Amino acid sequence: MTSLRRPREAVDFDVLEQRYPPAPDYFETAWLDDPATIEAKQLERLQQRAVAAHDVPFFAKRWADAGFDPETIRSLDDLPRAPLYTVDDIRESIEANPPFGDYQGVMPGDALREPMRLFTSGGTTGRSRPTLYTAWDREVGALLTARALYLQGIRPGDVVLNAWSYSTHNGAHIMDEALYKWLNCIVISTSTGTVTPSRKQVELAIEYGATAILTTGDYLLHLAETAVEMGLDPIADLALKALPNIGDVEQLEATFGVPVLDSYGFHEVQWVAVECPAKSGLHVFEDAYIVEIVDVETGELLPDGEQGAICITELYKTGSPQFRYNIMDLSTRYPREQCECGSWLRKIAPFAGRGDNMVKLRGVNVWPEALGAIVGDVPGATNDYFVRAIREGNRDEVVVSVVGDVADDALPGRIEAALKHAVGVRISATVCTAGALDRDTGFGSAAKLVRFRDER
Ligand SMILES: [Zn+2]
Repeated sequence: MTSLRRPREAVDFDVLEQRYPPAPDYFETAWLDDPATIEAKQLERLQQRAVAAHDVPFFAKRWADAGFDPETIRSLDDLPRAPLYTVDDIRESIEANPPFGDYQGVMPGDALREPMRLFTSGGTTGRSRPTLYTAWDREVGALLTARALYLQGIRPGDVVLNAWSYSTHNGAHIMDEALYKWLNCIVISTSTGTVTPSRKQVELAIEYGATAILTTGDYLLHLAETAVEMGLDPIADLALKALPNIGDVEQLEATFGVPVLDSYGFHEVQWVAVECPAKSGLHVFEDAYIVEIVDVETGELLPDGEQGAICITELYKTGSPQFRYNIMDLSTRYPREQCECGSWLRKIAPFAGRGDNMVKLRGVNVWPEALGAIVGDVPGATNDYFVRAIREGNRDEVVVSVVGDVADDALPGRIEAALKHAVGVRISATVCTAGALDRDTGFGSAAKLVRFRDER
C-alpha cells in the first residue's frame, strides 16, 4: 500500500473557493467587502501564517534574533514588528544550505503527500533561487491571477495566446494555470518569439480568434508592427479584446483600440493587485496579501502616500512563506477609501521601478526606470531605452541610450535638457537606431526587459 496523495486529494476546493472566491463571483462578493470585514479576514489569516512560517528555519532564526514572537500578533499593526528580508537574505540562505535554502515550507522529500512544483528566479548571475509551491499554493495563485485577467477583459471560454516564456520561471505557467483552470480559456502556448516566430504568433492569433496575447507590452507592440508588415491592420485584423500587458499604456491603447488595465505580481507570491476601470491605482487582493511600503535604504515603514519599496506578506500559502519580503519594487500605498468601482480594497500606485537600481548621482537619487518615462516624452525619441551607471575619473555618471531619430542632430540635447529639468542633475544621452539596444535589454528573448546596468 502506498500513502500517495494525488494533487486532486491535496486540495479541498470547497474550502478554497469559500476562502478565495474566484472570478466572476469575486467581483460581487469579497471585492465589495467593507473595511472591517477585509481587516478581520487579514488578521485571522496573518495569525495563522505567522505560526506556520515560524516552523521554517529561515523565519524562526530571524524572528528569534529580532525578538519577534508570532504568537503575539493581536492586530494588523503588529506586523511591522516582524523583521523584513530581501533577496540578499534569500541568496545567503541558499549559499549556506544549497540548493533549496532554509526558507522553504516544504521540501522535495514531502512530495508523496504534498505534490509540489518548483520554479526558479534569477540565476543570470549566481545560483538560481528556487520556490516550492504546494498544490494548494498553485491553485490559489492561479485563482488570484485569473481574477486580474478577468478584470482586464478576458472572459471564460476565450482563446488566449500565452507568449510568455515557458521556462524555469513561474510567469508563463501561472498564467496558463489561471486561464485553463479558473477561466475555462483555451490557451495556445506559443511562448516567446524565439519559440514561435512573430509572424506565426500573428497568424495563430487571427486564425483562432484570440482575445488577448499575454506577453510584455513591448513584444505586443512588436507583433503589431509585424502584422503591419504582413499587410494587416492590428485593430481590425488582430481584433484583441483585452490588453493584460504591461508597457506603454498610451501606445498600446492607440495601437489596439482597447483600454489597458495595469496589474502587479511577482513569481514567488503570484498575482497581487489589479487596476479597476476607475484607473486610479491597483486594488490589492487583500484576502491573500498585506502590502506595506518601506524606505528603500532603511527598511522603515513609510506612511500612506509616500513612495518606497513594496514589502509583501502573503496570507494564503501552505508551502514556502513570504512574510515581510521586501521585493524592492517601487510603489506607493494609498489610504483606504471607497473607490468609484465600489471596492474598499486598498490601492497601490503602478510599479515605478526597482529600488535596488537606485544610483546616487551628486547627492540626488536617480531611478533608471523613471528616466525611461522622461525620455519617451521627448519628440523624436521612443520609449526604448537603456541606462548605464559608469565611473568617469572619480565621479559617478549616468548615461541614457535611446532609440530615436538619429538624423536629428539636436535630439540628444533635447533629451539631456528634459532629464536635467526633471531630475535636477546632468545626465548624458545618446540616440541610436531601432534594434541597437536589443542585446542590452534582452528584447525578443527575455521575459522581463532589462533597462539598467551598473558598470561602476
Ligand atoms: Zn476601484
